[in-house]
Amino acid sequence: MRVLFLASEMAPFSKTGGLGDVIAALPGSLRSLGIDVRVLLPYYGYPKRSELRLLGTVHPPYTKRLGEIWSLGTDDSIYFLRQPEYYERGGIYQNAAGQDWEDNPERFAYVNRVAVELCQGRLPFLDWRADLLHAHDWQAGLAPYLLALESRIGAPRPKTLLSIHNLAYQGRFAPELLDILHLPKEDFHPGGVELYGSFSFLKAGLVFADALSTVSPSYAREIQEEDLGMGLGGLLRSRQQDLYGILNGIDVTRWNPAADPYLPAHFTAHNRQGKTQCKIALQTEMGLIPDPQTLLLGMVSRMVEQKGADLVLALVPQLMEHPIQLVLLGTGDLALQEQAQRLAWQYPGKMAVRIGFDEGLAHRIEAGIDAFLMPSRFEPCGLNQMYSLRYGSLPIVHGTGGLADTVRDLHQDQRGNGFVFRPASQEALAQTIARAERVFHTENWQWQAAQTIAMQENHSWQRAALEYQSLYRHLLSGA
Ligand code: ADP
Repeated sequence: MRVLFLASEMAPFSKTGGLGDVIAALPGSLRSLGIDVRVLLPYYGYPKRSELRLLGTVHPPYTKRLGEIWSLGTDDSIYFLRQPEYYERGGIYQNAAGQDWEDNPERFAYVNRVAVELCQGRLPFLDWRADLLHAHDWQAGLAPYLLALESRIGAPRPKTLLSIHNLAYQGRFAPELLDILHLPKEDFHPGGVELYGSFSFLKAGLVFADALSTVSPSYAREIQEEDLGMGLGGLLRSRQQDLYGILNGIDVTRWNPAADPYLPAHFTAHNRQGKTQCKIALQTEMGLIPDPQTLLLGMVSRMVEQKGADLVLALVPQLMEHPIQLVLLGTGDLALQEQAQRLAWQYPGKMAVRIGFDEGLAHRIEAGIDAFLMPSRFEPCGLNQMYSLRYGSLPIVHGTGGLADTVRDLHQDQRGNGFVFRPASQEALAQTIARAERVFHTENWQWQAAQTIAMQENHSWQRAALEYQSLYRHLLSGA
């Protein structure tokens, strides 16, 4: 079974969020099941070209630029598409001011066109064609559509699967783009690629891919509703039979508290002494008062409304009246960043904020805190709550999407591994933090029991890979 992954990011080369982690981990797990998975993604300047090997040049149809396909010297299953004018400019999707690059449609259409050439075995320097294209998010939404256009003219083509990692990002652009991208106008209607007057990459994929998936069973249900369907609920309902929810895994090698190189001390489910050391080290690193008895809350997140960062910040003055400390790491919305920094100034020793993307600190936060805050308004899957579970940091989550599928409230479930609240309101979050505080201080045995349960859970990619394998088989059998 030959599968091409098409995506816009892959850790550690490029990552703005969970998608980068998924693309870093899932192909390897699928390969260990015997599936020949190759990955195509744009080359944004990492890794250095001295670590790469040039395989050949490409000039996809209806595009003006030449590109190059490079592979890693050590791994020839990852194909980097190099087109410096499009991709090597610092910022995968946006400029430094946080605005989307104006030519994003051209940039991502380009890699989609290359994917089609690769899938169809039309790159002469690669003796390979795909049985299945697995496209990810709007940036890869055009390829299933382009392949569907090929079958319209009678050409054979691979099966196509589009995975939705976040329905909020739909790749919507002005309809004039159809001309620029040399796409036919006949599909520009509500049953095709049109979304409320604009042309949407994501919708093109959702309409024309053979199957759709998203990254948790709950999110697969939620996106068929008005609220979280974000204008695409009706379409997703109509494709219900082809829509699968497969929960993401996490990279249990990179996120392993027993051997994590970013941590000052290590620990396991049965010996958590190292976790206390990590807590004190984190408090010291962040300028908080070092004290293992204080409930230390943490959040590592894109600072955007989706993640409920505003709910947490609004609650800070109230929280700071309690023996609670809070550490935040994130980037995103400028107003939220400023608000967070102002609050950290106001509560020195009790609240610390780092603006930026810092992988090592993210690991040290997961290890050093007692509880992780994830009040996302919606959450396709979420990885941080699973990292938290593995590091014995109890997640406090809004019960939505993948959070509802991975976290069980310890007051409602004997096998509880965290705290769950609904709705995503400031009051519900406040009450739940108060509940967590009570358990931490007065029923610590229950806290510890939940930590053990959490740390022993298996969230590896293996399970997800088996589910994708059976979906691929189902698609290829033509059933
Ligand atoms: P999303 O993809 O919606 O941003 P996820 O929870 O699925 O959310 O994945 C986020 C990933 O990005 C996690 O691996 C998380 O640790 C990481 N991350 C987010 N913000 C930062 C940051 N500021 N520094 C380091 N890692 C971050």
